[in-house]
Amino acid sequence: MTSTRRASLSQQLIDTCLAMNDEGINQGNAGNISLRFDDGFLITPSGLAYDRLQPADIVLVALDGSSRDRLQASSEWRMHRDVYLERPEAGAVLHAHPTFSTALSCLRLDIPAFHYMVAVAGGSDIKCADYALFGTQQLSDNMLAALDGRRACLLGTHGMICFHENLEKALWLGIEVETLARQYWHARQAGDPVILSAAQMQEVIEKFTDYGKQPAGED
Ligand code: 13P
Ligand code: ZN
Repeated sequence: MTSTRRASLSQQLIDTCLAMNDEGINQGNAGNISLRFDDGFLITPSGLAYDRLQPADIVLVALDGSSRDRLQASSEWRMHRDVYLERPEAGAVLHAHPTFSTALSCLRLDIPAFHYMVAVAGGSDIKCADYALFGTQQLSDNMLAALDGRRACLLGTHGMICFHENLEKALWLGIEVETLARQYWHARQAGDPVILSAAQMQEVIEKFTDYGKQPAGED
């Protein structure tokens, strides 16, 4: 039973990786996706092409970082593990190197409230974490600081990471963050975008709590 459940969730994980590449929010084999599972999480293996992955290749990692599987887990398992440990509401984590998020991260720029949709990440801006070497605990510590009160952040000179309650919503949020990064990039080319005030963003955050909630079966 557990193995059937694991295989079917692993296939959903692979489908989300393929969708991430189809949506153009990732580059090649970069990035990684995970899903909370039992006392740990299922995560993509390190360095393998998504279009060749089979459910049996997806690695189960415990919250202490250990794994009994054949393949090596993503080198970024610490960031995923720390999100699951620190953010109980997280059901899935997505890390990618989308062009505009990555370009802003190379400039070490936060995405400020240039547009109200920045609130989809949970706060009045989307922060850029300080740089640290990929795959390190320092990178994960920097990420957690930038994720304070938020579901997404940029990673200095690296890319973007976000989480949500399930894979579908994590993919949606990843696409939203990259869209915002692209819009902010273009707005900056043309001038100085007007930044919404803290009070204006607080209004948006409050309005988002019941935005789009349709009667059951209509959403
Ligand atoms: P993995 O292939 O080990 O998941 O690494 C990709 C990556 O994006 C590292 O930051
Ligand atoms: Zn990466």
